[in-house]
Amino acid sequence: MTEPTKDRTLLVTGIGELVTHDPAHGASGVLTDAALVVSGGRVAWTGPAAQAPATDDRLDVEGRCVIPGFVDSHSHVVFAGDRSAEFAARMAGEPYTGGGIATTVAATRAASDDVLRDGARRLVAEMRAQGTTTVEIKSGYGQDVATEERMLRLARELTDETTFLGAHTVPAEAAHDRRAYLDLVTGPMLAACAPHARWVDVFCEPAAPTAFDADESREVLAAGIRAGLLPRVHGNQLGPGPGVRLAVEVGAASVDHCTHLTGDDVAALAGSSTVATLLPAVEFSTRSPYPDARALLDAGVAVALATDCNPGSCYSSSMPFVVALAVREMGMTPLEAVRAATAGGAAALRCDDVGTLEPGARADLVVLDAPSHVHLAYRPGVPIVRTVLRGGRPVA
Ligand SMILES: [Zn+2]
Repeated sequence: MTEPTKDRTLLVTGIGELVTHDPAHGASGVLTDAALVVSGGRVAWTGPAAQAPATDDRLDVEGRCVIPGFVDSHSHVVFAGDRSAEFAARMAGEPYTGGGIATTVAATRAASDDVLRDGARRLVAEMRAQGTTTVEIKSGYGQDVATEERMLRLARELTDETTFLGAHTVPAEAAHDRRAYLDLVTGPMLAACAPHARWVDVFCEPAAPTAFDADESREVLAAGIRAGLLPRVHGNQLGPGPGVRLAVEVGAASVDHCTHLTGDDVAALAGSSTVATLLPAVEFSTRSPYPDARALLDAGVAVALATDCNPGSCYSSSMPFVVALAVREMGMTPLEAVRAATAGGAAALRCDDVGTLEPGARADLVVLDAPSHVHLAYRPGVPIVRTVLRGGRPVA
C-alpha cells in the first residue's frame, strides 16, 4: 500500500466486518461489507463499501475484519531483571503475595537508562504487533526519587499515558518507618515525577503488608491531585478491601483488578464515572479466581480490559490473549470483550479520540487475519493480527 500523508486520503475497503463502536451504526456498532476513510490521520467516514467516497489511496483487506486498535490502559513495562523462577515456584504451589516486587526493584535501580529503555521498547513493539495502539506505563519499581523519575522519563519517550506509582509497595529499607516512605512519595518523589506523569496511582490493598491501606492511599492520591495529576487505583486484587470505594470517592478514572468485589462495591461503581479495569491475565498467571465481569456489566458498570504486563504477576503483553480469557473465563461476549479492550481502555484513560472508529477518532485500527472479531477468542494464542495502523500509518 502507499503510505498516506497528511494531505492524502486513504480508503480501507473490502472489510468483511468492521467493529466501530459507533452508535450511528446500531447498538452493536458493527458493519459488514464495509469501508473506512482516513484523512489527516483520523477516521473521516465509515459505511457500506458500495457507498464509499473517492480517495487518493486504497487498501483492500479482502474480506477481513477490522477493529479499533487496542487500548492497554495498565502496564508496567519499564523494569529490569527476570522472575521466571518465581513463576515456576508459584505454578508448583507457592501462593502469590506481591512480595517478589522487591526483586524487580533491586534490578531496576541497578539498571542503566539504556537497559531500561531497550526493555520497554521491546515490550511496546511486542504490544504493537498484537494490535495495541495506545499504552499506559507506570513507574513503581524504583521506590526511590532518582529511579522513579528515571522510569517515568523513559516511559514518556513511549507514551503520553504515564503514571506515577511510587506507592506500589513500601520498599524493604522503609518497612520499619512507613510514615517516612509516605512523606517521601507525597513530597520529593512526587515533585520529581509529576513533570513526567499524567496520572497518580496507589496499590490500595490492606491485605498485603507491603501495600497501602485506605488512609495511606487517600493521602497519596490527594498529594498527586494537588500536583496536577489525575487519580487511578490498584484495588481489590488479593481480597475484599477499600480500593473501589476510595477510587469512587476521589473520582478516579479507573480502579484496576476488581477481583474481589462486594455487592456494595459493584453498586458504587455503577453510580460513578470510575471504570472497572479487569486484568484477567493476572488471574491466569497467578492461578487465582477471575473477577465477576458479568456482575459488573449487568449492573451497568463501565468495564475495561488490560494486560497489566509486568515481570511478576503477569508477563504477557497480549491484548488478544486478554480478550480470549475474558470470553472463556469471565463470560463476556466476544463483542463485549473487544469493546472493553478498546473503548473501555480509552474511557479508563479519559481519552475521547481512541478506542472507537467513529468519525473524528484517531485512525488506529487493526486488520485481523480473520473474518470476524470472534476469532480473537475462538483462536486463542494464534497470531491473527495482520496489519496495525496508528494515526492512519502502518506500525505493524
Ligand atoms: Zn499493576
